[in-house]
Amino acid sequence: MARKTFIAGNWKMYTGSAEAVKLAEAIDAGMMRTDVRVAVFPPFPWLTVVAEALGQSDIAVGGQDCHAEKEGAFTGSVSPTMLLAADCTYVILGHSERRHGLHETDALLNEKLKSALAAGLQVIFCIGELLAEREANRTEAVLDTQLSAGLAGLTAERMNNVTIAYEPVWAIGTGKVATTEQAQAAHAFVRAKIGKLFGEIAAAAVLIQYGGSVKPDNAAALLAQPDIDGALVGGASLKADQFLAIIAAAPR
Ligand code: PEP
Repeated sequence: MARKTFIAGNWKMYTGSAEAVKLAEAIDAGMMRTDVRVAVFPPFPWLTVVAEALGQSDIAVGGQDCHAEKEGAFTGSVSPTMLLAADCTYVILGHSERRHGLHETDALLNEKLKSALAAGLQVIFCIGELLAEREANRTEAVLDTQLSAGLAGLTAERMNNVTIAYEPVWAIGTGKVATTEQAQAAHAFVRAKIGKLFGEIAAAAVLIQYGGSVKPDNAAALLAQPDIDGALVGGASLKADQFLAIIAAAPR
């Protein structure tokens, strides 16, 4: 079964309001591929203005995180239903900047994931190993744990709304990209693990994005790998021409 390429732009804590709108409009205006799924993830305060600027465009909008609870005394947090009300289709969960920077655990991410899916969001669920873990030949063990614990309690049906982003932590924002062989091997491992957890149909259908210094000059080779179904792009998603070039690199 052919899987549709999915390119996502994580704007992190960058852009001002007007800049975010301009960036979204420029991406929309330059989009030449109706066969590629595209989503952008602006900072929370710009979600509604970006969604409004994109209007009826096929480009979806998502939040960069959410809380597991629907509401409550959780200062600074945003719930899945709030993201939906801000016209979000997606949420990113488990980004390494939250796993390692903010110490989010597999158990917490599993709660967030179940809650976001139950609310009706689609989730990009990030996993990936640290450099020390790769050097100690622990990449597969780390991915195995992050998937077993992170996806615990989900059904194969719920997995229809989950995209996995494999993001080796040492490649995020560093300019060091995984080789196509390293990335493909990790993606094949992830797909096989999804098969063990949810069955072969779910494994064949699940989209697995690569993330970590994806740029216009390395996107085509990565996206040509059999188990790489898209990219989660940080830095290069802040420049419309670079993000569009990555979208254009998707195999036809
Ligand atoms: C990311 O933020 O998920 C990411 C992969 O960043 P970059 O493309 O800048 O490495």
